[in-house]
Amino acid sequence: SNPNSLAARDIASLIHPYTNLEKHKETGPTIMARGDGVYVYDDSGKRYLEGMAGLWSTSLGFSEKRLVEAATRQMEALPTYHIFGGRSTEPSIELAEALLKIVPKGLGKVLFANSGSEANDQAAKIVWFYHNAIGKPLKKRIIGRVRGYHGITVFAGSMTGQVANHIEWDLPIGGVLRTDCPSHYLFGEPGETEAQFVDRLVGNLEALIEREGPETIGAFIAEPVNGAGGVIVPPKDYFPRIQEVLRRHDILMIADEVICGFGRTGQMFGCDTFGIEPDIMTVAKALSSAYLPISATVISEAIAEKITAHAGKIGNFAHGFTYAGHPVAAAVALETLRIYEERDIIAHVQEVAPHLQARLRALAAHPLVGEARGVGLIGALQLVTDKASRTVLPAAAGIGPLIQARAMERGVIIRASPDAVFVCPPLIITKAEIDELMDALSAALDDGLAEAEK
Ligand code: PLP
Repeated sequence: SNPNSLAARDIASLIHPYTNLEKHKETGPTIMARGDGVYVYDDSGKRYLEGMAGLWSTSLGFSEKRLVEAATRQMEALPTYHIFGGRSTEPSIELAEALLKIVPKGLGKVLFANSGSEANDQAAKIVWFYHNAIGKPLKKRIIGRVRGYHGITVFAGSMTGQVANHIEWDLPIGGVLRTDCPSHYLFGEPGETEAQFVDRLVGNLEALIEREGPETIGAFIAEPVNGAGGVIVPPKDYFPRIQEVLRRHDILMIADEVICGFGRTGQMFGCDTFGIEPDIMTVAKALSSAYLPISATVISEAIAEKITAHAGKIGNFAHGFTYAGHPVAAAVALETLRIYEERDIIAHVQEVAPHLQARLRALAAHPLVGEARGVGLIGALQLVTDKASRTVLPAAAGIGPLIQARAMERGVIIRASPDAVFVCPPLIITKAEIDELMDALSAALDDGLAEAEK
């Protein structure tokens, strides 16, 4: 093959995240060249419906001109500036205000960052700083959950509860405790009702806190719906019950809204859908429709007051990223929030989501599918070898990746883990586009079944 081709140059020069790098040498990259609505086109001109909104992120699709114009306007006015040492910029102020208007009640101040991982690291540091500020310096450890995904920086990667992000990386570092994943389908005991399952998880959390000492535990972090860990939709009363335990032990609730935020679950935030009252909330991805990197850690007024007073006493608040509140990224995010409001994106999600969920649920009858789950415009099919015993497909069978590849041949991008397939399309998707997505997924599932039966 041609050594000057983009594919050859890619193989010679790049390490790709979450990619089998040995195989990549043979297969090479799919190079995306342009976008149009929910579609992207590769460099050969082939069109794909982006059923994952990129990385669960591109809420407004791939050709929103208003975001391009917002970026251009800000680039021309002031292409970069920081917010250190009391300086500020109009887009960062306006974006903070716009966020505070829509976040759950009680949240009152914003710290910007550039990625979901950074926002979550920042949340952890805020927890530590806050507990120092109120004279409880030992109250530091953070409880994460099995299958939680919070990013890949050293501490966000530690809060993440997935073996692949730990093994070989010497993670987790200290300071993290782990509790259960709230999937009744995957982790319910035989014969256990969903109510009994929630009772057991709440009991386990209480026992963990008592065993480890509440005076050593500062916060609990959770995604309202786990994304990468399997699109786990929690039982309805799970979060209110968990929060009751946390409150009793003075443990802060961090809601990782990096995937759920801005309409994904059919309401503005996953917190709204699942009855979560966060002390700290992190957002990224759909904050800017992923057009530019920007994230935020939003903290309660109560935490903000203590932090401000404490920082004032010790001197400067010694934390912040060079690009925190970057004016171009902030201008794009602000325009994104304006579009959500003007076009009533939540109403659109509520209109089309039942169609996606119905089509997913219909696939629960498929021989390969143990559970079809989801909420709003996010969903998953759990792949099993045996429905009765809920035996999940072994990773070695390679069926998930095969389904992903076959869907892609059909011009639809979904995501697979070894034992599940996921959909999380742009929020602007229409019912007809949902049909196109689900038709291809359904056909790819049949390919997966044929392979599994070999
Ligand atoms: N939190 C959640 C729920 C995520 O899904 C992700 C990324 O997928 C992150 C945090 C990390 O975000 P980033 O990749 O921007 O660091």
